[in-house]
Amino acid sequence: MRCGGEIRQLTVISGKGGTGKTSLAAAFASLARGAVLADCDVDAPDLHLLLRPEILSMEEFKGPRLAEIDPAKCTGCGACRERCRFLAIDEKFRIIAERCEGCGVCGIVCLAGAIRYVERVLGSAFISRTRFGPMAHAELEPGGEASGKLVSLVLQSARELAKREGRGLIIVDGPPGTGCPVIASLGGASLALLVTEPTPSGIHDLERVLEVCEHFNVPAMVCINKHDLNEGNTKSIERWCSERGLELAGKLPYSDAPARAMVAEKTVVELEPEGFGRLVDGIWRRVARRILYG
Ligand code: SF4
Ligand code: SF4
Repeated sequence: MRCGGEIRQLTVISGKGGTGKTSLAAAFASLARGAVLADCDVDAPDLHLLLRPEILSMEEFKGPRLAEIDPAKCTGCGACRERCRFLAIDEKFRIIAERCEGCGVCGIVCLAGAIRYVERVLGSAFISRTRFGPMAHAELEPGGEASGKLVSLVLQSARELAKREGRGLIIVDGPPGTGCPVIASLGGASLALLVTEPTPSGIHDLERVLEVCEHFNVPAMVCINKHDLNEGNTKSIERWCSERGLELAGKLPYSDAPARAMVAEKTVVELEPEGFGRLVDGIWRRVARRILYG
């Protein structure tokens, strides 16, 4: 997809996990032909399960430095603990790693020279090649924080890839929820596709994620997945969208195709081009038109 030299970005998100956004993002990748892919669900990335990327390069993702206290030098004066505004030093003068922001104050006030700072690797960022185009993705270490920053790093890599290879579209598999990683995944987005299900919490999740999009001025479309599980709720979501002038990209019925595609390491479009894949193709066409023409 070319848009007069401009790089467009589609971010596929949902108010909660498990709504099928990764299946859709992967299917769009196979239909877009030549997009750059970005898996921004860095806490639980699974786009690679469908696309089997060949990793070309890896970069460590480093967080803030971590303070370390040498017990052999520590006199137990307590100055560091008193001054640490992040409450990251316990009563036995041990660092609580999850709280330490690496601000360096403890090292300044420690007259015994017992504190040093070490690098913290929180995850890895990758550039890969898939059968549908290049892909930027990442993995956070278990318990690793700052996932919003890692999402920004993935997006930045995707933009550089798009520029370098002259590709006009980035398809982002965004994180679930409405927190910092979701906000980061909307950075530079031309359009957000909000994927929802007709569950009791569906509208609530949709409302929250739409608020985030509106706050950051990102236009949005909606896709209702498994619409036939509760036609009443589906109608409510459709009404809700229409009242807000929110365009519906389409509806998908319940199907085991996404699960079978995952097992077969294919996209639903590759697995079932005439069945479920055709419905996804219709959604893609509406989304692509909106990205191109606004
Ligand atoms: S300021 Fe230094 S000497 Fe004092 S408790 Fe902290 S680490 Fe130990
Ligand atoms: S570096 Fe800052 S946040 Fe970390 S323990 Fe020292 S004072 Fe606290």
